Amino acid sequence: MSRFAPAFDGLTGQPAAVRLLGTALESGRLPHALLLHGPAGVGKGTAARMLAAAILCQGETTRPCRACAACGRLSRGDTWDLVELSPDGSFIKIEQVRELTETMYTGIQRGVAIIDPADAMNPQAANGLLKTLEEPPAGWTLILVAARPEALPATIRSRCQAVRFARLSEGDTRAVLAAHAAADQVTALAAFADGAPGQALAAGLEPDELAAEFAEAAGCLTPATFGSPSRIFAAAESWGRDADRTRRFIAWARLWTSHQLHRQTGADAGAALPGMQPTDMSAARLAAFQNRLEAAAQGMDRNLNRPVLIEELLFTLGESGGGAPC
Ligand SMILES: [Zn+2]
Repeated sequence: MSRFAPAFDGLTGQPAAVRLLGTALESGRLPHALLLHGPAGVGKGTAARMLAAAILCQGETTRPCRACAACGRLSRGDTWDLVELSPDGSFIKIEQVRELTETMYTGIQRGVAIIDPADAMNPQAANGLLKTLEEPPAGWTLILVAARPEALPATIRSRCQAVRFARLSEGDTRAVLAAHAAADQVTALAAFADGAPGQALAAGLEPDELAAEFAEAAGCLTPATFGSPSRIFAAAESWGRDADRTRRFIAWARLWTSHQLHRQTGADAGAALPGMQPTDMSAARLAAFQNRLEAAAQGMDRNLNRPVLIEELLFTLGESGGGAPC
């Protein structure tokens, strides 16, 4: 257990990030601007709020004292020294950034701004943040949180100290889920969480619904579907219905691909998943598909046509050959 853990008590499975942030906090050398990045659902947002509480506390230790005026305000939700920006509609807009900047120049001695998800800033908002990011008013810390840091302008990234958050181990994933789900559901949820417990919880589905949906997605990743244009169109229409469902298709396909790759390399793929049939696709082809999925996940924010995105994925999977012989 790191001696810095107190500030991040309750944050599971991120020892490297905790060490980095804890060291900076304790030495009083926390950068003015941080970018917490890593997959969705691994604890970045939780860490950002824990860090904010530790920064704002007027006590002597890195652990929030829960006794000072700042800790008291935080627990009452009376947080004029903590500003959080989240999307207004689909994006974080320039007006929100302007309002944040104005707050930062009102003479507050110590403040924290959390921008989560920072990759939801539209280009004008990102531009509007640049100057503040370069030279925040004294006493202010900016914490940007992003699952896709590459979607941020390089000028934003270069002005922040990056802190990477990783997918959790199976054991840590279970520990997080155990705090939020019934004991008999933890195993099933852990299989779908894929190291990102927040993601499994955010879907808001029961384990048997998750199982059914995964099996449905796995069924689309067989030659019976990707070898047949009419089935591809039907699958694209079904999975493209709404953004959440499209996101989950990409997540399920990612999980399916990583299990197939694990199986081929003889690595332990964790819990068995419903509807998983071994595929005879080569590891190279699976890896290429994995890359396409990552790109598709990033493309989700651009206003693209979701059914077309799914069609393209399934056509690519069929095109490169090597599926089961017909
Ligand atoms: Zn305090």
